[in-house]
Amino acid sequence: MATKKNGSTVSKVRPRCIICGRTEHDGVILVGHGPECICTECVENIHRYITELNTDLKPQGMYADKVKEEFKLLSPKEIRKYLDQYVIGQDEAKKFLSVAVYNHYKRILHQSQKSRDLELEKSNVLMVGPTGTGKTLLARSIAKMLHLPFAIVDATVLTEAGYVGEDVESILTRLLQDADYDVEKAEMGIVFIDEIDKIARKSDNPSITRDVSGEGVQQAMLKILEGNIVNVPPQGGRKHPEQKMIAVDTSNILFICGGAFEGIEKKIAQRLNTKVVGYGVQERTKDIDKKELLRYIAPQDLRSYGLIPELIGRVPVVTYLHPLDRTALRDILTTPKNALVKQYKSLFQMDGINLEIDEEVLDLIVDTAIKYNLGARGLRSICEAIMVDAMYEAPSAKKKEFRVTLPYAKEKLLSFTGSLLITG
Ligand code: ADP
Repeated sequence: MATKKNGSTVSKVRPRCIICGRTEHDGVILVGHGPECICTECVENIHRYITELNTDLKPQGMYADKVKEEFKLLSPKEIRKYLDQYVIGQDEAKKFLSVAVYNHYKRILHQSQKSRDLELEKSNVLMVGPTGTGKTLLARSIAKMLHLPFAIVDATVLTEAGYVGEDVESILTRLLQDADYDVEKAEMGIVFIDEIDKIARKSDNPSITRDVSGEGVQQAMLKILEGNIVNVPPQGGRKHPEQKMIAVDTSNILFICGGAFEGIEKKIAQRLNTKVVGYGVQERTKDIDKKELLRYIAPQDLRSYGLIPELIGRVPVVTYLHPLDRTALRDILTTPKNALVKQYKSLFQMDGINLEIDEEVLDLIVDTAIKYNLGARGLRSICEAIMVDAMYEAPSAKKKEFRVTLPYAKEKLLSFTGSLLITG
């Protein structure tokens, strides 16, 4: 009992959860003031209950219908035009991807009208090309254009079920997460599986040791790629064995795979009956462009590289990307909608500063990327090295103009990375 100032007595109520009745003495954390509190455990339980209720009660097919209503199917040329805003060059990949995406979504949108005898097959895509040439960027741009859930997964972390690593179902966990666990939404999304070449069969000889991160993963991926109901752990991984699986139908998920497939040129050359280096060009192979053997890539080459035929069959659209040359790198700096130079200009603009970067500076950036073999990915870090001091000083310098000249850029590159980035 506590005594008030006026002498009357009141009983001191210990705050407790209005749902489970527990107090802080019971080891729970209470949220709220005074006696009317709620413990964090009850908050979590209610949240889980509502989430499950929503999933169970939601009328099926609502999202799909909405998407079908709102979705304006762009023609392959329009898709290509959209990609041109973000990705430099890579004409063949853009064309293949535009047609594949167009056919894929045409297939979904016209599903109800499809004839019973004629079922349009899924058009999963495989992009082969050196790292940093725009494979992920292409896939990401497609997803952005379509306003659909998108997930990037790295095939190297996957292993056959039961082994250390991630189960292939985790590919879909990422997609579910991007769709805020809206299953219907996720079922129309796009998944980019990167480094698919790293799960190639390790050797042609069947050995006693199981190839759990190679052929085993390829086998496990088949059911996801072809269109099946797959049970997906919502939290991913195997850390939450108690989690309730979510059934996801992968029939309408578009899978875009990418890989560098280093050394596949040799396989292509062998098939084309020519040699990458050597004398004596045969009559029938003389028109082959040996510098760009990737353009002749065919399913047989993927097979000799170590992909199993069943997997190749589920990724029927195969295209390639070129290595980026000087002109492409230079364009990447200035041309795309969100080009690096445009981004820096806009950052400075926010402080009321007009940023000018001399043309020679852009050449220096490209030269440095080429010299150190940094590719398109390296452009960003080179730019950062040049711009970091300016971004640090300029906002407090109260100037309306900032110009990056060649001597300034050279000095910053030197001081930032020392001898590594000194250009001649
Ligand atoms: P990868 O082929 O390894 O998937 P990415 O698409 O991730 O390469 O490219 C890395 C970065 O390099 C991109 O985020 C983008 O900034 C830049 N880039 C690469 N290729 C291109 C390209 N063709 N056009 C525009 N930017 C590109």
